[in-house]
Amino acid sequence: MALRGKVALVTGSTSGIGLGVAGSLAREGVNIMLTGFGEPGAIEEIRAQLVRDFSVEVLYDGSDLSKPDQVQAVVEATQAQLGALDILVNNAGVQFVAPIHEFPNEKWDEIIAVNLSAAFYAMKAAIPSMVSNGWGRVINIASAHGLVASANKVAYVAAKHGMIGLTKVAALEMANEGVTVNAICPGWVLTSLVNRQLEERARASGRTFGEEAELLLSEKQPMHRFTTPASIGETVLFLCSDAGDTITGSALSIDGGWTAQ
Ligand code: NAD
Repeated sequence: MALRGKVALVTGSTSGIGLGVAGSLAREGVNIMLTGFGEPGAIEEIRAQLVRDFSVEVLYDGSDLSKPDQVQAVVEATQAQLGALDILVNNAGVQFVAPIHEFPNEKWDEIIAVNLSAAFYAMKAAIPSMVSNGWGRVINIASAHGLVASANKVAYVAAKHGMIGLTKVAALEMANEGVTVNAICPGWVLTSLVNRQLEERARASGRTFGEEAELLLSEKQPMHRFTTPASIGETVLFLCSDAGDTITGSALSIDGGWTAQ
């Protein structure tokens, strides 16, 4: 496939969706910069496993993407250490659940910084070299919550709606530069971000984790099953393929029908 030898920065790729995306890209021969938090030994195991499985270069950067200067630094580190940055996947994200009048200011600031502003700073730093190479792919992992709202998720919903706006503006600006910019909008994916919500719901309701998972799905999705990180990885590959050449400015739902209602 034409992606062999290209370089991707996948933010928040130490777990969940980002790790699934990194795996799909590595399988196609893309060299990867991983980022995110976690236990150093476990992260090194993830890095080494990708190298073993796919014989690509895989590096890790532990930058805190809530800090604009660290976002710029990780883009520059990717370009310096892997020689380019062809594919930028803005995926790092955090969640916090509370009604607006109880929502802590510092949680609002953190979610806007990680889920929205980091994507802006990374695109700002990465796009010039994509334009000078005449090829690039920016893929922003938004959410069904980029298209519709849920109660108690004010910062997350605001950030994800903002991410789709950011995607559209960049797509217009890059339309004739060989650089496409798209958002992917997943419904429920069973990752640590959702696990924490399910554990909290189970604690509050007295129901089991499994019962809460069934309820969570049926509250929002006509299709009562979770999307997998791997299937989001395959969608990223599709957007990076030649078939994706004229797909830009889109918000692609992978949500079991959530936003069709
Ligand atoms: P996750 O918790 O498994 O992954 C989040 C990643 O972001 C981790 O690698 C974490 O270390 C990293 N991260 C968090 N804060 C960071 C910071 N300050 N600096 C650097 N890295 C940071 O969760 P996930 O579900 O895989 O989430 C990935 C993305 O997918 C998020 O943007 C999330 O909003 C989005 N999403 C998730 C779902 C879902 O149902 N899980 C649905 C729609 C969208």
